[in-house]
Amino acid sequence: MSRRSAGDDPQVVFEGVNKYFGENHVLKDIDLGVEDGEVVVVIGPSGSGKSTLLRCTNRLEEIQSGDIRLEGESITDDRTDINVLRQRIGMVFQHFNLFPHKTALENITLAPTKVKGVPEREAEQKGRDLLDEVGLAKKADAYPAQLSGGQQQRVAIARALAMEPHVMLFDEVTSALDPELVGEVLGVMRGLADEGMTMMVVTHEMGFAREVADRVVLMADGRIVESGDPEHFFTDPETDRAKQFLSKLL
Ligand code: ADP
Ligand code: MG
Repeated sequence: MSRRSAGDDPQVVFEGVNKYFGENHVLKDIDLGVEDGEVVVVIGPSGSGKSTLLRCTNRLEEIQSGDIRLEGESITDDRTDINVLRQRIGMVFQHFNLFPHKTALENITLAPTKVKGVPEREAEQKGRDLLDEVGLAKKADAYPAQLSGGQQQRVAIARALAMEPHVMLFDEVTSALDPELVGEVLGVMRGLADEGMTMMVVTHEMGFAREVADRVVLMADGRIVESGDPEHFFTDPETDRAKQFLSKLL
Protein backbone atom coordinates (compact mmCIF):
# COMPACT_ATOMS: atom_id res chain seq x y z
CA MET A 1 0.00 0.00 0.00
CA SER A 2 1.23 3.45 -0.79
CA ARG A 3 2.43 5.38 2.20
CA ARG A 4 2.29 8.59 0.33
CA SER A 5 1.39 11.55 2.44
CA ALA A 6 -1.67 13.49 1.44
CA GLY A 7 -1.39 17.06 0.31
CA ASP A 8 0.93 18.55 -2.19
CA ASP A 9 4.31 18.01 -0.63
CA PRO A 10 6.92 17.61 -3.32
CA GLN A 11 8.10 14.03 -3.53
CA VAL A 12 11.69 14.86 -2.65
CA VAL A 13 12.88 17.98 -0.86
CA PHE A 14 16.48 18.96 -0.19
CA GLU A 15 16.70 21.81 2.26
CA GLY A 16 20.01 23.43 3.10
CA VAL A 17 21.82 20.15 2.61
CA ASN A 18 25.54 20.05 3.39
CA LYS A 19 27.72 17.01 2.98
CA TYR A 20 31.41 16.62 3.76
CA PHE A 21 33.84 13.82 3.10
CA GLY A 22 36.37 14.73 5.76
CA GLU A 23 37.50 18.25 4.89
CA ASN A 24 36.00 18.02 1.45
CA HIS A 25 32.75 19.99 1.33
CA VAL A 26 30.96 18.18 -1.49
CA LEU A 27 27.36 19.39 -1.16
CA LYS A 28 26.92 23.05 -0.31
CA ASP A 29 23.55 24.37 0.84
CA ILE A 30 21.54 22.33 -1.60
CA ASP A 31 17.91 23.42 -1.93
CA LEU A 32 15.86 21.45 -4.40
CA GLY A 33 12.31 20.17 -4.61
CA VAL A 34 11.23 17.44 -6.99
CA GLU A 35 7.50 17.44 -7.61
CA ASP A 36 5.25 14.45 -8.09
CA GLY A 37 5.80 13.18 -11.65
CA GLU A 38 8.61 15.57 -12.33
CA VAL A 39 11.77 14.56 -14.19
CA VAL A 40 14.80 16.46 -12.92
CA VAL A 41 17.99 15.91 -14.87
CA VAL A 42 21.17 16.73 -12.98
CA ILE A 43 24.21 17.61 -15.03
CA GLY A 44 27.61 18.99 -14.23
CA PRO A 45 31.32 18.27 -14.38
CA SER A 46 32.88 15.21 -12.83
CA GLY A 47 33.33 15.59 -9.08
CA SER A 48 30.64 18.26 -8.73
CA GLY A 49 28.59 16.13 -6.32
CA LYS A 50 25.90 14.63 -8.55
CA SER A 51 26.30 11.03 -7.37
CA THR A 52 26.61 12.12 -3.76
CA LEU A 53 23.36 14.06 -4.06
CA LEU A 54 21.54 10.94 -5.22
CA ARG A 55 23.24 8.70 -2.68
CA CYS A 56 22.26 10.99 0.20
CA THR A 57 18.62 10.64 -0.82
CA ASN A 58 18.39 7.07 0.40
CA ARG A 59 21.09 7.48 3.03
CA LEU A 60 23.78 5.55 1.27
CA GLU A 61 25.67 8.65 2.45
CA GLU A 62 24.91 10.70 5.55
CA ILE A 63 24.46 14.46 5.40
CA GLN A 64 25.99 16.75 8.01
CA SER A 65 23.36 19.47 8.01
CA GLY A 66 20.06 20.33 6.41
CA ASP A 67 17.29 17.91 5.69
CA ILE A 68 16.03 15.63 2.95
CA ARG A 69 12.36 14.72 2.96
CA LEU A 70 10.63 12.05 0.97
CA GLU A 71 6.91 12.63 0.67
CA GLY A 72 7.04 14.83 3.71
CA GLU A 73 9.03 12.39 5.82
CA SER A 74 12.54 13.34 6.90
CA ILE A 75 15.04 10.64 6.01
CA THR A 76 17.09 11.49 9.11
CA ASP A 77 14.19 11.46 11.57
CA ASP A 78 14.63 8.80 14.26
CA ARG A 79 11.08 7.68 13.65
CA THR A 80 11.76 7.05 9.98
CA ASP A 81 12.41 3.41 9.16
CA ILE A 82 15.17 3.79 6.61
CA ASN A 83 14.54 0.32 5.19
CA VAL A 84 10.93 1.12 4.46
CA LEU A 85 11.93 4.46 3.04
CA ARG A 86 14.49 2.85 0.76
CA GLN A 87 11.77 0.66 -0.72
CA ARG A 88 10.13 3.81 -1.99
CA ILE A 89 13.26 4.91 -3.82
CA GLY A 90 14.47 2.91 -6.79
CA MET A 91 18.06 3.43 -7.78
CA VAL A 92 19.95 2.35 -10.87
CA PHE A 93 23.69 2.84 -11.21
CA GLN A 94 26.22 2.98 -13.98
CA HIS A 95 27.42 -0.54 -13.26
CA PHE A 96 24.40 -2.80 -13.38
CA ASN A 97 25.15 -5.18 -10.58
CA LEU A 98 22.80 -7.98 -11.44
CA PHE A 99 23.33 -11.25 -9.63
CA PRO A 100 25.29 -13.29 -12.17
CA HIS A 101 23.97 -16.68 -11.10
CA LYS A 102 20.34 -15.67 -11.28
CA THR A 103 18.21 -15.28 -14.39
CA ALA A 104 16.78 -11.95 -15.45
CA LEU A 105 13.44 -12.90 -13.91
CA GLU A 106 15.03 -14.17 -10.68
CA ASN A 107 16.98 -10.94 -10.37
CA ILE A 108 13.69 -9.07 -10.53
CA THR A 109 11.66 -11.26 -8.15
CA LEU A 110 14.33 -11.57 -5.46
CA ALA A 111 13.69 -8.37 -3.51
CA PRO A 112 9.89 -8.40 -3.73
CA THR A 113 9.73 -11.99 -2.42
CA LYS A 114 12.49 -11.73 0.18
CA VAL A 115 12.05 -8.15 1.38
CA LYS A 116 8.37 -7.51 0.85
CA GLY A 117 7.07 -11.04 1.21
CA VAL A 118 5.26 -10.97 -2.12
CA PRO A 119 4.15 -14.53 -3.04
CA GLU A 120 6.45 -16.16 -5.61
CA ARG A 121 3.83 -16.53 -8.35
CA GLU A 122 2.65 -12.97 -7.99
CA ALA A 123 6.23 -11.67 -8.07
CA GLU A 124 6.91 -13.74 -11.17
CA GLN A 125 3.87 -12.45 -13.00
CA LYS A 126 4.80 -8.90 -12.12
CA GLY A 127 8.41 -9.60 -13.10
CA ARG A 128 7.32 -10.86 -16.52
CA ASP A 129 5.15 -7.78 -17.00
CA LEU A 130 8.12 -5.58 -16.14
CA LEU A 131 10.40 -7.46 -18.52
CA ASP A 132 7.78 -6.93 -21.19
CA GLU A 133 7.69 -3.23 -20.34
CA VAL A 134 11.45 -2.89 -20.83
CA GLY A 135 11.28 -4.88 -24.08
CA LEU A 136 12.78 -8.10 -22.71
CA ALA A 137 9.79 -10.42 -22.46
CA LYS A 138 11.76 -13.19 -24.17
CA LYS A 139 14.77 -12.91 -21.89
CA ALA A 140 13.19 -13.97 -18.59
CA ASP A 141 15.36 -17.08 -18.33
CA ALA A 142 18.58 -15.55 -19.62
CA TYR A 143 21.52 -15.06 -17.29
CA PRO A 144 23.20 -11.65 -17.19
CA ALA A 145 26.24 -12.90 -19.09
CA GLN A 146 23.93 -13.87 -21.96
CA LEU A 147 22.60 -10.33 -22.20
CA SER A 148 24.11 -7.22 -23.76
CA GLY A 149 25.01 -4.30 -21.51
CA GLY A 150 21.90 -2.45 -22.62
CA GLN A 151 19.72 -5.46 -21.88
CA GLN A 152 21.33 -5.90 -18.46
CA GLN A 153 20.71 -2.28 -17.65
CA ARG A 154 17.07 -2.65 -18.68
CA VAL A 155 16.79 -5.65 -16.35
CA ALA A 156 18.31 -3.49 -13.60
CA ILE A 157 15.62 -0.87 -14.21
CA ALA A 158 12.90 -3.55 -14.14
CA ARG A 159 14.39 -4.88 -10.90
CA ALA A 160 14.16 -1.45 -9.29
CA LEU A 161 10.59 -1.01 -10.53
CA ALA A 162 9.58 -4.37 -9.05
CA MET A 163 9.65 -2.79 -5.60
CA GLU A 164 7.07 -0.24 -6.77
CA PRO A 165 9.15 2.80 -5.88
CA HIS A 166 7.62 6.25 -5.78
CA VAL A 167 10.82 7.88 -7.00
CA MET A 168 13.50 6.58 -9.35
CA LEU A 169 17.11 7.75 -9.21
CA PHE A 170 19.38 7.10 -12.18
CA ASP A 171 23.11 7.69 -11.92
CA GLU A 172 24.82 7.70 -15.31
CA VAL A 173 23.09 4.50 -16.29
CA THR A 174 24.25 4.68 -19.88
CA SER A 175 27.84 5.84 -19.31
CA ALA A 176 29.37 2.37 -19.40
CA LEU A 177 27.46 1.22 -22.46
CA ASP A 178 28.59 0.94 -26.04
CA PRO A 179 27.09 3.88 -27.93
CA GLU A 180 24.72 1.73 -29.95
CA LEU A 181 23.12 0.43 -26.73
CA VAL A 182 22.50 3.80 -25.11
CA GLY A 183 19.27 4.53 -26.97
CA GLU A 184 17.39 1.43 -25.81
CA VAL A 185 18.03 2.30 -22.16
CA LEU A 186 17.16 5.96 -22.60
CA GLY A 187 14.01 4.80 -24.39
CA VAL A 188 12.91 2.84 -21.31
CA MET A 189 13.59 5.87 -19.12
CA ARG A 190 11.63 8.09 -21.45
CA GLY A 191 8.72 5.66 -21.24
CA LEU A 192 8.81 5.83 -17.46
CA ALA A 193 8.85 9.61 -17.58
CA ASP A 194 5.86 9.57 -19.92
CA GLU A 195 3.99 7.41 -17.43
CA GLY A 196 4.50 10.04 -14.77
CA MET A 197 7.27 8.49 -12.70
CA THR A 198 9.08 10.97 -10.46
CA MET A 199 12.71 10.80 -11.53
CA MET A 200 16.10 12.29 -10.74
CA VAL A 201 18.49 11.51 -13.55
CA VAL A 202 22.22 12.17 -13.59
CA THR A 203 23.37 11.91 -17.17
CA HIS A 204 25.73 13.23 -19.80
CA GLU A 205 23.11 12.64 -22.47
CA MET A 206 22.16 16.20 -23.27
CA GLY A 207 19.62 15.14 -25.91
CA PHE A 208 17.76 13.22 -23.23
CA ALA A 209 18.01 16.14 -20.83
CA ARG A 210 16.63 18.52 -23.38
CA GLU A 211 13.79 16.31 -24.53
CA VAL A 212 12.69 14.51 -21.39
CA ALA A 213 13.57 16.74 -18.44
CA ASP A 214 10.98 18.99 -16.88
CA ARG A 215 13.87 20.75 -15.24
CA VAL A 216 17.62 20.75 -15.67
CA VAL A 217 19.86 21.31 -12.67
CA LEU A 218 23.50 22.20 -13.20
CA MET A 219 25.89 21.39 -10.38
CA ALA A 220 29.42 22.70 -10.01
CA ASP A 221 31.71 22.40 -7.00
CA GLY A 222 28.96 21.04 -4.78
CA ARG A 223 26.45 23.77 -5.55
CA ILE A 224 23.42 24.05 -7.74
CA VAL A 225 24.53 26.87 -9.98
CA GLU A 226 21.57 26.94 -12.30
CA SER A 227 18.20 25.27 -12.46
CA GLY A 228 15.55 25.74 -15.05
CA ASP A 229 13.41 24.72 -17.94
CA PRO A 230 15.55 22.70 -20.40
CA GLU A 231 14.74 24.73 -23.48
CA HIS A 232 15.73 27.91 -21.70
CA PHE A 233 18.77 26.30 -20.09
CA PHE A 234 20.18 24.96 -23.34
CA THR A 235 19.45 27.98 -25.50
CA ASP A 236 19.83 30.93 -23.16
CA PRO A 237 21.41 30.01 -19.82
CA GLU A 238 21.48 32.64 -17.09
CA THR A 239 24.84 32.04 -15.46
CA ASP A 240 28.38 32.23 -16.77
CA ARG A 241 28.98 28.83 -15.20
CA ALA A 242 26.22 27.31 -17.33
CA LYS A 243 27.45 29.07 -20.46
CA GLN A 244 30.93 27.75 -19.80
CA PHE A 245 29.64 24.21 -19.20
CA LEU A 246 27.56 24.22 -22.36
CA SER A 247 30.36 25.67 -24.49
CA LYS A 248 32.53 22.71 -23.57
CA LEU A 249 29.95 20.29 -24.88
CA LEU A 250 30.17 21.64 -28.40
P1 ADP B 1 30.06 13.44 -9.48
O1 ADP B 1 29.09 12.32 -9.37
O2 ADP B 1 29.42 14.75 -9.85
O3 ADP B 1 31.21 13.12 -10.37
P2 ADP B 1 30.67 12.77 -6.74
O4 ADP B 1 29.41 12.99 -5.99
O5 ADP B 1 31.04 11.39 -7.08
O6 ADP B 1 30.67 13.71 -8.04
O7 ADP B 1 31.88 13.38 -5.91
C1 ADP B 1 31.84 14.65 -5.32
C2 ADP B 1 33.09 14.82 -4.49
O8 ADP B 1 33.05 13.92 -3.40
C3 ADP B 1 34.40 14.55 -5.21
O9 ADP B 1 35.36 15.45 -4.72
C4 ADP B 1 34.72 13.13 -4.81
O10 ADP B 1 36.12 12.93 -4.82
C5 ADP B 1 34.19 13.09 -3.39
N1 ADP B 1 33.74 11.75 -2.98
C6 ADP B 1 32.75 11.03 -3.56
N2 ADP B 1 32.56 9.86 -2.92
C7 ADP B 1 33.46 9.84 -1.91
C8 ADP B 1 33.77 8.90 -0.87
N3 ADP B 1 33.07 7.76 -0.76
N4 ADP B 1 34.75 9.21 -0.02
C9 ADP B 1 35.43 10.36 -0.12
N5 ADP B 1 35.18 11.30 -1.05
C10 ADP B 1 34.22 11.04 -1.95
MG1 MG C 1 28.96 10.51 -10.36
